[in-house]
Amino acid sequence: MSAEVLARLPGQELAMAFLRRAAERPHHAYLFAGPEGGGKTLAARAFAASLLCPAGGCGTCRACRLALADRHPNLFLVEPEGRDIHVETVKQEVWHPAYRTAPEPGRKVFVIREADRMNAAAADALLKVLEEPPADAVFLLLSARPHELPETIVSRCHVVTFAPLSEAFVVETLVAEGAEPERAAIAARLSGGNLGRARHLALDPDGLAFREVARRALERSAGGPAGALEAAEEVLRAAEAYRKDLTGSLKDELAPFLDERGRPEEAYRGAVRRLEERHKRRVRRAERDYVDRVLLAASALLRDRVVAAVGGGSELLLNPDVAPGPAPTVRTAAALAAIEEARAALAEDLNLNVRLVLERAFLRCGPS
Ligand SMILES: [Zn+2]
Repeated sequence: MSAEVLARLPGQELAMAFLRRAAERPHHAYLFAGPEGGGKTLAARAFAASLLCPAGGCGTCRACRLALADRHPNLFLVEPEGRDIHVETVKQEVWHPAYRTAPEPGRKVFVIREADRMNAAAADALLKVLEEPPADAVFLLLSARPHELPETIVSRCHVVTFAPLSEAFVVETLVAEGAEPERAAIAARLSGGNLGRARHLALDPDGLAFREVARRALERSAGGPAGALEAAEEVLRAAEAYRKDLTGSLKDELAPFLDERGRPEEAYRGAVRRLEERHKRRVRRAERDYVDRVLLAASALLRDRVVAAVGGGSELLLNPDVAPGPAPTVRTAAALAAIEEARAALAEDLNLNVRLVLERAFLRCGPS
């Protein structure tokens, strides 16, 4: 057995050492606990690969490659839809498949991301499965807020703790991966220890595009009501372009399971359906995700103006590469509050009209 896939996850040596031992004789349920962006998802993929690979996680075979891309037919992935994970999702994606024969010979692995978002009924359904776990199934629960999980569930899991990553560690990692030191430093600062987000900011050519959209929106809003409405329009246009890009990516995801005529092979109908549904959810969420990232960037820019206005030095800025510019503190603080309220409102209520929320927020960013 060679658990190559578990060889290393920088910054999480203890957790990975634990998983390497666990992979040899896995328990039926694990809880990966630790802040967002600390490597829980990567570790879960690697652990799943080590459980699904005939060689124990070689890192190169078909099973490993599919598992590492979240696409192995025996890998069942549950994520929140909207704010919660609903009971129907747990029944369909965990309960039923857990007691059925796996699509391919071997184990079944169930990964539940943001597990603390299960509502009470969903947690109850999962608990029933954990109380009578099928012998060929392994459950991985991921959570940044493990204290919000019912004790009955936590007590049935082996807890694997993922430590928060330091800013220095994130910078070092990004530079080693080829990022320019200055950009790595900005990315690490903006992402607050979330390595995945920092990597995207530092290495993706479009990584800082959100901030550019946010900067332009604030600039327009400062011009008055007409500018604020234009700003909302521009953010929505950019979000729509992002959603369209995402829509096109499904074909690649499905390719390994389709025959030469582009139809799902019999054994993979379920896997293909799951990939399609997950993809649909991502597309539905795409506009919200995009808008949230722009608002987050706007909030960071406004916060810097407040910090600069009260005399804070550049070491305190979230965007050390952007001159905050002079701004009256009271108005900037009001704009910051407006942006944060908009983010909270959109996260809370999925039925809100995004355009109205944006317009209202940007109007409050203008001259009083
Ligand atoms: Zn393998």
